[in-house]
Amino acid sequence: MLELNKIPFPEAKRLADGGRALTILPVGVVEEHGAHLPLGVDSFAAEIYSASAAPHLEEAGYEVVIAPTINYGVARAAIDFPGTLSLEPETLRSMVVEIGKSLARHGFNRLVVLNGHRDLHHMKALDDARAMLISAKAAQVLVVGFSHDPEMTAACYREGVKQFYQSPRPDREGHGGESETSVALHGFPDLVKRDMIGGLTPNFDYDVEAFRNETKDYSSISDGRGYFGWPQAARAETGAKLVAIRGRNIANVILKAWGAP
Ligand SMILES: [Zn+2]
Repeated sequence: MLELNKIPFPEAKRLADGGRALTILPVGVVEEHGAHLPLGVDSFAAEIYSASAAPHLEEAGYEVVIAPTINYGVARAAIDFPGTLSLEPETLRSMVVEIGKSLARHGFNRLVVLNGHRDLHHMKALDDARAMLISAKAAQVLVVGFSHDPEMTAACYREGVKQFYQSPRPDREGHGGESETSVALHGFPDLVKRDMIGGLTPNFDYDVEAFRNETKDYSSISDGRGYFGWPQAARAETGAKLVAIRGRNIANVILKAWGAP
């Protein structure tokens, strides 16, 4: 696994000419995830899942190239929380299309957008970018992770993980809750405010439909807490398992779509 911004151009040429390159573009956002987690959770998670998926793709014969993360996205539901930043969907869509076209120009024509942020407008923008790149015949493109297609999201993130949840209400775990906090404790523990977690009360009785459909803002449906579920149920060991399984899930989805190179 190589990072595109850490290699010189002759190495990029070798990769593109080799015909086995597969580029992963992690996409996140700057968005609140409760008082205990940093604003960059979804960007960091997208990077962690990219690194976890890469060895499985390499085993199948691909040369995995990780492009620099898009750290900004569309975050309308949480926009009232200090520090949350939002792009317009067209801005995000243009970024992905322009990055995809630049990659394709040099022969990197397999692009996997690995998205760590669940927001309907954000996911739609990524899907629109995918469609534009495909119709321009610029590249093969998949959007994995949190996808506009709920079956894709389930295949990447939900398959094979539920038994590891400690929460008494795994069906209510969401944004900033057990899963994301566990991944944070595993992947970027120094950025977690551990001393705060013990004081976080469960948020199980929120308006699930409003959360899923983004018909109400996160602040009002979480009483200003900014998380959904129970961060106290999170464990670093759970995070390690989630990252390993979801990385394999994501690789499986890609291999099922494209096969080996
Ligand atoms: Zn998140």
